[in-house]
Amino acid sequence: MRSKILSNVSALFFSFYAINAVSSPPHWHYDEQSTWWAIEDTSQSIPLLYPYAECGVGKRQSPVDLAAAKFNNTKPLNQLAALYDTDTPTFYNNGHSIQVNTSLDYSGGLRIGEESIPLIQFHLHEPSEHVINGQHLPAELHFVHINEDGRIAVLAVAIETGNENPAFQTILDNTPVQEGEQNADSGVQFNPAALLPPQDHDNLEYFTLAGSLTTPPCSEGVQWYLLSEVITISTAQLAQLKSFHTNNARVAQDLNGRAILSNK
Ligand SMILES: [Zn+2]
Repeated sequence: MRSKILSNVSALFFSFYAINAVSSPPHWHYDEQSTWWAIEDTSQSIPLLYPYAECGVGKRQSPVDLAAAKFNNTKPLNQLAALYDTDTPTFYNNGHSIQVNTSLDYSGGLRIGEESIPLIQFHLHEPSEHVINGQHLPAELHFVHINEDGRIAVLAVAIETGNENPAFQTILDNTPVQEGEQNADSGVQFNPAALLPPQDHDNLEYFTLAGSLTTPPCSEGVQWYLLSEVITISTAQLAQLKSFHTNNARVAQDLNGRAILSNK
């Protein structure tokens, strides 16, 4: 009996230290997205039970099915301008997506009315996350802008197959194949504006709605701006994109009465 108690105590002791040795956020996978809300964070000594609860209980989650929404293009909306300039970014395979991080002194951003929000990173989903009548497009590009106060604005661009896209190829060619690795020293000069559709970047046509991050922790308070025009990549480029990550798209979430506003 005594030895059993001792072994229980030592098991507790070791599990306590094993638990404390791990401090990264809990892992998640796209094939378990219906239960992201239930993931437990066992890395804390006092376990934080459901760090991704918002993925399940949130009422303004992203992405959505655009065909299911009420559209309104009669309200005056802010002018939207993508003021991106050239950077020497870091190409990052984050384990879920190809992601390009802008450098710390990057001055490019999204101007929404009078406010400018810095571009922090952009990344790719295959297939698209936003759908129309349940139909995906081949891929979707998300430009993530974060203000000093933590507010997030995402500019989303749908990707069709068609003409080859040289700027897209630069990303494919510089992102590490190994998950978790980054390429910070490529020296590649890259202007994210090269990934925008050929329209007036100072006055973009868009749809907008309130939503969330589409990956855990699914935080809300994200304003989405979906461009009405698409960009193209070749079928060979789509195949190369899939060789990094495939099916990294969250399923469409309930609109819960949200309307989509448009300046189109
Ligand atoms: Zn995204």
